[in-house]
Amino acid sequence: MDMMPAAPVRDRLPDGARLLFESVEERQLIDGALVASCDLGTLDVLDPSTGGVLGRAPAAGEADVAAAVAAAVRAFPAWRDTAARARGKAVAEGARRIEAEIADLAPLLALETGKAIRTECRPELGSAVDILSMYAGLAGELKGETVPYDPGMLAYTLREPLGVVAAILPWNVPLVLMMLKIAPALVAGNTVVVKASEEAPFATIAAAKLLADALPPGVLNVICGTGADCGGPLVLHPRVAKVTFTGSQPVGEAIHAMAATKLMPVSLELGGKSPMIVFGDADLDRAVEGAFAGMRFTRMGQSCTASSRIYVHRSLYDRFLDALVLRLEAMVIGDPLDEATDAGAVVNVRQKQKIEALLAEGASVDGVELRTVGRLPQDSLLKDGLFVLPVLCLGATEDNVLMREEIFGPVTCLVPFDDDAAVLQAANDSDFGLAATLWTRDLKRGLTMAQRIEAGFIQVNRTLTIQPNLAYGGFKKSGLGKEASLAAMLEHFTRVKTIVVDLG
Ligand code: NAD
Repeated sequence: MDMMPAAPVRDRLPDGARLLFESVEERQLIDGALVASCDLGTLDVLDPSTGGVLGRAPAAGEADVAAAVAAAVRAFPAWRDTAARARGKAVAEGARRIEAEIADLAPLLALETGKAIRTECRPELGSAVDILSMYAGLAGELKGETVPYDPGMLAYTLREPLGVVAAILPWNVPLVLMMLKIAPALVAGNTVVVKASEEAPFATIAAAKLLADALPPGVLNVICGTGADCGGPLVLHPRVAKVTFTGSQPVGEAIHAMAATKLMPVSLELGGKSPMIVFGDADLDRAVEGAFAGMRFTRMGQSCTASSRIYVHRSLYDRFLDALVLRLEAMVIGDPLDEATDAGAVVNVRQKQKIEALLAEGASVDGVELRTVGRLPQDSLLKDGLFVLPVLCLGATEDNVLMREEIFGPVTCLVPFDDDAAVLQAANDSDFGLAATLWTRDLKRGLTMAQRIEAGFIQVNRTLTIQPNLAYGGFKKSGLGKEASLAAMLEHFTRVKTIVVDLG
């Protein structure tokens, strides 16, 4: 039988996206130019929906780190001394350039992450632009204070940039997470070196180039390599003044330890095991939709805030379960580039195996039932794709691995409860404290519980994605510091200098 050779994965990209991809393949952004890695060659980047190789990304090492940091160091004094409103204007111009290219950036993001273009990638790019635009408008807010002191004395504080900021990204929402770091850092007058995720670097580098073209060379640099070869040396580089990291808890802890050797500030956005609590008086339809959205099933659950522990009052439990199963059965899992697809693939083989291993371990305990829902795609093109069906875990106790560990897959636990005090205790019995959602028609109960839940971001009767002006960040092992909001820019990307003048 004649076998047609498979078309290269890149042929799946529409023309504009393919051109954009080819402009950044094997390239990283240093000193305003797209350049090859100086030391370690390249890494393969997969299309998770077919299992094929999409393209090659640079495998940066210490020499690349040194080149990128040197460019950022050179660019810093002039950028620091640029009027804040001019910095804001440049960032706003970068936002417009990215917005104009969303149609080409979105397929690239979809193909390298496996995420569906309609439900995930275009909305992510829209949010990325919103974040840049908001911070661009906040340049005038980089204010210090005057401080009451002795008569004849003027005492005041200045906020000044830190220098070179390193931003290390994960693969799951790379564009939004990059902008949450670099927009406030740049507007505050820092220069930046981003370490893109080696799993999904192309849309990151392409979007960064569009933004960088609106900035002086060297103000924004992006390198790509593994954590060991590129991320670690970047953290340890003596000219890097601050690291902002989003990723897994173990890597966050390692970066924290490395930063301590330099006494360098770090902000860490790490994992989560976020509870959703559906009280007996909740609006069932809204709560079910909230579970679907909050668990980020359209992103295959690959979200740090995923509602992966859903506590439902016993009076609603059966109806809630039936309705959630129906909702999940209606979800179309398939080709990320297809407009009809609701959810694509998980990002890589390691992630798929991790999900499967945790499910096997969790289900090995008596009384645990895994309810698998939905249909895998039937298209032969996708036969080797990394697709995972949603799983509802029923009957797990608080000590089950599926209740304790971040799975980062389309798996959530459903647990019935009887009283508020017990569910509050269960919800707080976690190493993590990133987010929570509460569902009730009784506002007093909602607000009281919101005050007692140990998590940094709480929503009552709704679940939404990160908004640029709402401070976002976890308690406990979910991280250190906040992202988004004016406060995050001031706290994490400036330092305060006190000046006292004797006027006499
Ligand atoms: P990861 O921790 O494996 O990698 C994140 C980044 O760190 C990558 O760029 C990687 O190359 C780099 N890295 C790895 N080892 C390093 C080292 N020793 N030194 C410096 N850099 C290193 O995470 P991931 O698999 O890319 O992303 C998934 C994780 O991200 C999940 O745990 C998820 O909860 C977390 N996440 C958190 C948030 C949040 O806002 N809290 C948002 C998204 C993702």
